[in-house]
Amino acid sequence: MKNFEFKNPTKIIFGKGQIEKLSQEIPENAKILMLYGGGSIIRNGIYEQVKEALSGYEVVEFGGIPANPEYSVLMDALKVIRDKNITFLLAVGGGSVIDGTKFLSSAAEYEGETPWDILAQKIPTTKAMPFGTVLTLPATGSEMNSGAVITRAETKEKLGMGGTGLFPLFSILDPQVIQSVPSRQLVNGITDAFTHVLEQYMTYPSGAILQDRFAESILQTLIEVGPKVLDDPTDHVAASNFMWSCTMALNGLIQKGVPTDWAVHAMGHELTALYGIDHARTLAVITPSHYKFNFETKKEKLAQYAERVWNITEGSLDHKASAAIEKTEEFFNLMGIDTKLSAYTRDYHGTAEEISKRFKERGWTGLGEHQSLTPDDVQEIVKRAY
Ligand code: NAP
Ligand code: FE
Repeated sequence: MKNFEFKNPTKIIFGKGQIEKLSQEIPENAKILMLYGGGSIIRNGIYEQVKEALSGYEVVEFGGIPANPEYSVLMDALKVIRDKNITFLLAVGGGSVIDGTKFLSSAAEYEGETPWDILAQKIPTTKAMPFGTVLTLPATGSEMNSGAVITRAETKEKLGMGGTGLFPLFSILDPQVIQSVPSRQLVNGITDAFTHVLEQYMTYPSGAILQDRFAESILQTLIEVGPKVLDDPTDHVAASNFMWSCTMALNGLIQKGVPTDWAVHAMGHELTALYGIDHARTLAVITPSHYKFNFETKKEKLAQYAERVWNITEGSLDHKASAAIEKTEEFFNLMGIDTKLSAYTRDYHGTAEEISKRFKERGWTGLGEHQSLTPDDVQEIVKRAY
């Protein structure tokens, strides 16, 4: 196991009917900016619940944060924060609204001139405006981590940011919220969380026996409850285990003491930036191709995953490792997710070259757990995902 430090300060308030506890978590004299997306919270009643819980506060609202939170929209929200002297941000939504709120919490305290630099120059956020979240879509883990990903349509970029200042103060997780989530988004959530675990697990054996089993248990739970939530989102046992699995997949715990990959996300973000493909679907496109390309360096963990998660116990190590990749692709396909880029866009010719070029320009010359994946390798992986 590698050395590590672990601190996660986010308070989780989990369960049915917990949104009413909001007022216990926000400072009394706070001037709140409540941020949300395209209006699903108004249709499903979460908006009402939040407004009722905040009845004693001064609340300004900012709706309209799009999926893959867009920089120009967030800059409008930043103006509201400044004009109205906001002191606390409340995100009510999925990963997009939460990530957008994280960007704002950082940008509100940023002293430089252009907040995009926080992303472009990878400036870590240590000081930020306090914020909390009401999660409406289990998927990203953003509700309990310190990362965010922001899109800029103007330049077709999608870049990450992070820092110790970006943990939510609290997050309210009521599994009942999934009842109104369209199945396409539930499938995205299962796939995103599943891939988050894989990015922190599918590397090489590192002697982190406990973290391996944490990771495998989250994968097993997602495989078990995923189809159940799709079948019946009112199944509380399935919904609550799904929601908590998504949070646990990316709250820092399983990545401590282990090597991590994250190349799938790096390539996937480019597919969203270029074609607007849902985040989770880009991951399902890249994952099988990435594992096949890096088969030799990942096969020991692939075989362990085959045995422990998919119960594939027969055959050679190579056989088990290959079967594990097939099982993973099958799992995504069974939920209705296409794992080839050509299923999402006809315009895919040249994509691999473009992504490779971008990575070269950014100096991303050594991705993956061995920091050895070159832009040429990336080009080949993306090409094989067509
Ligand atoms: P999302 O983009 O936040 O939401 C997707 C759609 O689901 C939106 O149309 C949203 O509608 C709708 N929705 C959300 N909750 C709903 C509900 N309860 N009922 C009905 N519809 C609902 O999806 P996401 O998968 O959570 O977030 C994806 C973003 O997170 C991507 O940009 C991705 O790159 C990023 N991400 C971040 C991290 C991280 O650690 N920070 C990790 C992975 C991915 P409304 O617009 O109306 O709300
Ligand atoms: Fe993700």
